[in-house]
Amino acid sequence: MIDLLITNGFVLTLDSHGTVYQRAAVAVDKGRIVALGPDSVQPARRVIDARGNVVMPGFVNAHMHETLTRGLNEDLPLAEWLERICFPIDRAYTPEILRASALMNQLEMIRAGITTFVDIYRYPAVAAEVALRSGLRGVFTPQIIEIPPGVGETLESNRAFVEEWNGRCSRIVVGYGPHAPYTCSDFLYIDVTRRARETNLRVHTHLSETTFEVQRFLREKGSTPPQWLDRLGVLGPWLWVAHGVHLSDEDIDLLAQREVAVVYNPTSNMKLASGVAPVTKMLERGVTVALGTDSNLSNNNLDMFEEMRAGATLQKLVTGDAAVLSCETMLRMATIWGARALGMEKEIGSLEVGKQADIIIVSLESPHLWPALTGDVHNVAEHLVYSANAADVQTTIVEGQILMENRHVLTLDEGEVRVAVECAVRELLERAGVVEYLRTRTTREQGK
Ligand SMILES: [Zn+2]
Repeated sequence: MIDLLITNGFVLTLDSHGTVYQRAAVAVDKGRIVALGPDSVQPARRVIDARGNVVMPGFVNAHMHETLTRGLNEDLPLAEWLERICFPIDRAYTPEILRASALMNQLEMIRAGITTFVDIYRYPAVAAEVALRSGLRGVFTPQIIEIPPGVGETLESNRAFVEEWNGRCSRIVVGYGPHAPYTCSDFLYIDVTRRARETNLRVHTHLSETTFEVQRFLREKGSTPPQWLDRLGVLGPWLWVAHGVHLSDEDIDLLAQREVAVVYNPTSNMKLASGVAPVTKMLERGVTVALGTDSNLSNNNLDMFEEMRAGATLQKLVTGDAAVLSCETMLRMATIWGARALGMEKEIGSLEVGKQADIIIVSLESPHLWPALTGDVHNVAEHLVYSANAADVQTTIVEGQILMENRHVLTLDEGEVRVAVECAVRELLERAGVVEYLRTRTTREQGK
């Protein structure tokens, strides 16, 4: 008898053939998918009837930061945002505050059907402990920032984290996270790349996010950020980068050639007025493009449905071509291509026999998803990209463990997380010394 059987669902596998079953079962045993298809019904200790629902791989959020201060720093120019709010707050985190933040972020991701996330932020060991409890699959690349000092992790803390956590749990993946080429030295990039390659780990960084960054590199180094990193030997299949908004054609060809994946963060790029990543060009030239929410400071939620929709509509607008980035492309970007960017495509990202059972069940019951066609003519992928949202996810499963069932989270106590968040945010703002600034801003806004 197997552990779990999900029956009667509309199964969207996102395998390489794009296989779809109008009504099928997914059989799970010992954390993996052991059978899949219309004839896969078999005795199981636990059966979930997914009639009328979509069964699909969980989302891979390939770039985010587990931050706490959502909605407290809006509508500022980027420089003021960083100087007055972000840096003081980043400096003020303690492990206990980060713990509350990780609980909040992971609770939200379970409820949004994200089964794997990449966290590039502070106190990775604390966040990883939370992931042990939440049941999510987490990739932790501690955010190293050298300039200005004190706002991020360091090479030493990243190294210690890797030593302590590498191989400790199948759901926790460790790597290196130099923040960006304008906050980290060449030496650091060379060093973490060497370490990562020696130990078969990966490196994640922000790259070519703003014109400020690119102009500065052209001025100071006579080279674009990707071309500069390539000269240092940093570009390779071990690296995946966030944003890639301002890339030249040569940059794109270089990333394709070096097999560097890029994470598209459309909402963040719009909100911070960074620009529009050349996603259609990247795909044409063979770059793997994944999808990410970025942090709740620049999004502000962790909803991959919204991200798929924003990502597709933004590219249609800027290319002037309504046919670019199909629904299936967006779904792949949010799942299997994310897995590929992390070097995990053999394990996760699609529903296939032998893969980890990272599965979500999405309801088509709400009026915003009518008419839901699930027969020979079906519009499921279309609904997932253009109409659905995180609240339509009913059930979230990682490695065969049910983390949420019928929107009831089983691994974390929502009341407890809420109290922890309320206490932590007060302490964080006070420690950061930004309460007075926020009060003045709020008063100013009310006067408008
Ligand atoms: Zn980011």
